[in-house]
Amino acid sequence: MLDYQALLDYIAEAVQPHFGKGKVANYIPALGRVPASKFGMAVQLASGESFTVGDAFEPFSIQSISKLFVLELVMSHFGDMVWTRVGKEPSGDRFNSLIKLEMEQGVPRNPFINPGALATLDLLMGLKGDTKHRIRNYLRFLAMNEAVDTDAAVMNSELAHSDLNRAMAHLMKSHGNIDQDVDTLLETYCYQCAMTMSCKDLALAGLPLATGGYSALHDAAVVSAAQAKRINAVMLTCGMYDSVGSFAYRVGVPAKSGVGGGILAVIPGKMSVAVWSPELDQFGNSYVGTAALEMFTSMTHSSIF
Ligand code: GLU
Repeated sequence: MLDYQALLDYIAEAVQPHFGKGKVANYIPALGRVPASKFGMAVQLASGESFTVGDAFEPFSIQSISKLFVLELVMSHFGDMVWTRVGKEPSGDRFNSLIKLEMEQGVPRNPFINPGALATLDLLMGLKGDTKHRIRNYLRFLAMNEAVDTDAAVMNSELAHSDLNRAMAHLMKSHGNIDQDVDTLLETYCYQCAMTMSCKDLALAGLPLATGGYSALHDAAVVSAAQAKRINAVMLTCGMYDSVGSFAYRVGVPAKSGVGGGILAVIPGKMSVAVWSPELDQFGNSYVGTAALEMFTSMTHSSIF
């Protein structure tokens, strides 16, 4: 078997020249304070073995990566019905753009841009019970870590700066594509974005998508094999903001990023890989994290292309 530990150690060194080229997200102070020099990476193999390097055990703000887990929950409860509320095409616009929303009658392009994540969450909130607890418990289960929780300071700060997301929610509601009260929806959305997890947590949480929805490690099928295939496809085409094309070119696997600097990548049939480095490129993806994943898939020949 490949020496994954040696590979991760090598990558942690090899990415050093890439630091200092991106910018830590600063749209809220709580994220802007995270040291730019952080770097962690975790690999979770389908066989159960795992490998880590650097700050892989340090929790960080998962932000948009939460959209992936909420989509899993929604798919497992509602199946293909989700596609009546949200599309599955790349948007080509920034994740928080509402330009196309008006033209498309309040049906967002995909579940990974902000309006799409709001519409997906709205559907989940239609289920009985506390949605925040549902999301938190699901992440704890996936990460096999009861300490996974939201960061209240980040959540409140997000809420205080949520005018644009709020505008999207109102626009969609006026088109009949949001059922919930907008304030409650926004609070729940900020809660999910402010969840903190480590690379180790995320790699474990991503494993079911690499193994056809069923994970022997979790002893559960979180989604069906068909749903896992579909979620991976939507990740590949929409998961990396409006640079999915260059990410597919450089890395070549389904992945979801967040402005906290995390990226969760799924290598179907083999493993999941999580990386964290807070400096972002102009599209909002981790600069060093993308470079690390590019090295990883090149050196392991695991791009799906
Ligand atoms: N909470 C962020 C927002 O809604 C998430 C952004 C992201 O990670 O893409 O603006």
